[in-house]
Amino acid sequence: METLRTEHISKRLQLAMLVIVLSIVFISVPLIVSSNQNYLKSAEALKEIQMLKMVADLTNQISRERAPANSAMSSQGEQREQKIIELAEYRQGVDQQYQDTLKVLKEAGFAPIAQQLESNLYPYLLQGRKTVDQYIALPTQQREAKKLDHAILAMFQAWDQSYIALQKLVNHSHGKDTRVSNYYTLILLLAELRDQAGRVASNIMAAVSFQQEIPEQNLARTLQTQRQTRYLWELINVVQSEHDKTPEFKQLHHAVRTEFLDKGLPIIDGLAQKSLQHQRYHMDGTQLTDAMVDKFVTVVELQSYILDYSLKVAADERREARNKLIFTLFLSLVSLLTAVLTMFYAKKWVFEPLIRARNQLFKLARHRQIDQGVIEPTKLGYLSLFDAIQHIENMLEQRDAFEFQLKHIANTDSLTNVANRFALDEYIKFRDSQNSGFLHTALIVIDIDHFKQVNDRYGHIVGDLVIQHVANQLRQHIRSSDLVVRYGGDEFLVLIEGIDMLKAQHIAETIRHDIQHVNFNLAEDEADLIVTVSIGVAVGAKSWIDLLERADQALFKAKAAGRDRVSA
Ligand code: GH3
Ligand code: MG
Repeated sequence: METLRTEHISKRLQLAMLVIVLSIVFISVPLIVSSNQNYLKSAEALKEIQMLKMVADLTNQISRERAPANSAMSSQGEQREQKIIELAEYRQGVDQQYQDTLKVLKEAGFAPIAQQLESNLYPYLLQGRKTVDQYIALPTQQREAKKLDHAILAMFQAWDQSYIALQKLVNHSHGKDTRVSNYYTLILLLAELRDQAGRVASNIMAAVSFQQEIPEQNLARTLQTQRQTRYLWELINVVQSEHDKTPEFKQLHHAVRTEFLDKGLPIIDGLAQKSLQHQRYHMDGTQLTDAMVDKFVTVVELQSYILDYSLKVAADERREARNKLIFTLFLSLVSLLTAVLTMFYAKKWVFEPLIRARNQLFKLARHRQIDQGVIEPTKLGYLSLFDAIQHIENMLEQRDAFEFQLKHIANTDSLTNVANRFALDEYIKFRDSQNSGFLHTALIVIDIDHFKQVNDRYGHIVGDLVIQHVANQLRQHIRSSDLVVRYGGDEFLVLIEGIDMLKAQHIAETIRHDIQHVNFNLAEDEADLIVTVSIGVAVGAKSWIDLLERADQALFKAKAAGRDRVSA
């Protein structure tokens, strides 16, 4: 049989606890890991968007440096010095931003991008500036459109390098497959739109400044730039998801169309037409720059809106991912704690009381078994709970049997084994509690004739045998539902339910007859002993006392009439 010792139960409990805790851990860990990865990715994406914004801002500054450079190159006389100072100040601002960008990139772990800026962008920028300065330094008579165009192109090349850095940043980004991935593309597109839009005027700037015909190459570049600008403008609308097309975006995007595409580009087209028709331009270089700057503002606004918006989206993403991570951690912890607390609760309030009850059961069973020699004390530990219960069940059965015996002894006359006065009292009580009472009870009173003489003549042992003989005879003449009582020394009562007087008298007569016909074979020299009895019968009475009185009177009658007879 299986043994269930205390330490086994504890071990099983601990094992169950371990299984539950491990199950929760197995479910939680992948969830936490994936939430954490999402969070790290979104944090990385935010950092990348911040870097992109920074490099895009620098790119814009470099792109914008063309405006003061163009102004300084096309200005003459008094204005010239002023424009040179403005250009120098602007360049200082660009340099400062360049240094700041480098520092931030390096600190944020984007050293390869910083390297790209240092080894490519800055040398090209210096080269472009040098070409611009050389042009500015030229005496007016030595200036020509070709040289001006050369200086303008040199500045374009510096921008190209900053754009390459921007592209590199996007290509190496880790957040491309997050919700902000669209913005990587959008930032690139807008940086290019901004630059192309700026180049539209720069391409014809030299020719317009010198009131010369625009060279074919520049015309081609201008047309190409215009087409590119329109294409980028449309592409931006396509890439921007419908969900993120805020009213502000729509308004800014529309403004680029109405201001820059619909009003700015026709200025360039007009000048190109004039050049083709060999007519004089209606504006000079400075006026062209001023006219375009106004329209160009809409492109700059759209770009800065997208940069800010993308930063906001990335920050929102990161916050959401962080909340999800915290929630997952919290939920896992709560589940784990709940499981552990439940198990501790179960251990303390369910299993420990059960184990205690079991041990007490064991103790009870063991004592009993050791007492009875059923089990050796050394084998106690191997006793199973079911053994213990079985033994206690046996114990209870034994006790029940003992109680039954005790009760039986209390109700039985020890000499004759028929019921005694105590049992009769119980029976009287029972009949009193019934509606019918003693109305249908037949009472037969039997008394041995001259019994005193039997005692006197044969001794008490024979007397006892005679009493036992009478009791046996009585038992043989009744059913199991009837009651035989030894009422006094040589007096018996027989109680039978549900028979009439005739039947009762008949039974009484049979009893009397049968008792008389049994001979006691005594010692050889003794005469045979013949026992006779006198019997009184009564049937039905209001109470036990009435019934007994009537039966007694009948017995008295039988005795008085000469004994060995039945009276009613
Ligand atoms: P009667 O015909 O009028 O009944 O005469 P009797 O001698 O039987 O009357 P009595 O009631 O005076 O005698 C009963 C005797 O039974 C008295 C007593 O000594 C005897 N006796 C009572 N109990 C026992 C017993 O348990 N064993 C024996 N051997 N004798 C008993
Ligand atoms: Mg008698």
